[in-house]
Amino acid sequence: MITGIKENLQKIKNSIPENVTLVAVSKTKPIADIQEAYEAGQRVFGENKIQEMVNKYDNLPKDIKWHMIGHLQRNKVKYMAHFVDLIHGVDSFKTLKEINKQAKKHGRVINCLLQARIAKEDTKFGLLFSDIEEILSSEELSELGHINIVGLMGMATFTNNQQQLQEEFSSLANFFKKNQEKYSNLNTLSMGMSGDYQLAIENGSNMVRIGSSIFGVRNYIV
Ligand SMILES: *Cc1c(COP(=O)(O)O)cnc(C)c1O
Repeated sequence: MITGIKENLQKIKNSIPENVTLVAVSKTKPIADIQEAYEAGQRVFGENKIQEMVNKYDNLPKDIKWHMIGHLQRNKVKYMAHFVDLIHGVDSFKTLKEINKQAKKHGRVINCLLQARIAKEDTKFGLLFSDIEEILSSEELSELGHINIVGLMGMATFTNNQQQLQEEFSSLANFFKKNQEKYSNLNTLSMGMSGDYQLAIENGSNMVRIGSSIFGVRNYIV
């Protein structure tokens, strides 16, 4: 069977600058597809369900960096705390505390991104900019020694309106830059998916999360 995963990956890699990290979003896709991407050199994969990511971690090479990109269920953080490389979708202080607690059990420091709400749709999760500022500046955060907030993540509105996408990406990028001046740990801005990653990169993204353009359309809605 010709899947084209390798060719798709190559095409995307050629179209993004070197400083941009490509997260291959493999949610719903079988182990064999991930293995194929791995053999083509891809090492960073993103999943949106903790249990599915754990199953894949158990069955694939251990030098893969696993990113959790989905909405987090706090009671499941413990299942991925021993291996997760980066958690993109942190949207509450409570969740940060839970990640810290579970990371501590494994003697790890887990890198996290705070998810900002940039979409106009109210179906998207995420924190208001003011909530993010509050978290970053809080006394309590400095007491959490087992997490490291390394950046921000955002999902734009599901639309073809380039003007709107542009506005959403640039507002997050500006907010990110402003906070980078204050917090030296911030180095990652995760924004851009299959349909909008070029625009996201033009607006300052340095991490894109791409699924369907690599692995093809997903078999079921997630
Ligand atoms: C599924 C998903 C992606 C990838 O979407 P594609 O359009 O298939 O590239 C990126 N980010 C998040 C948070 C996702 O859930």
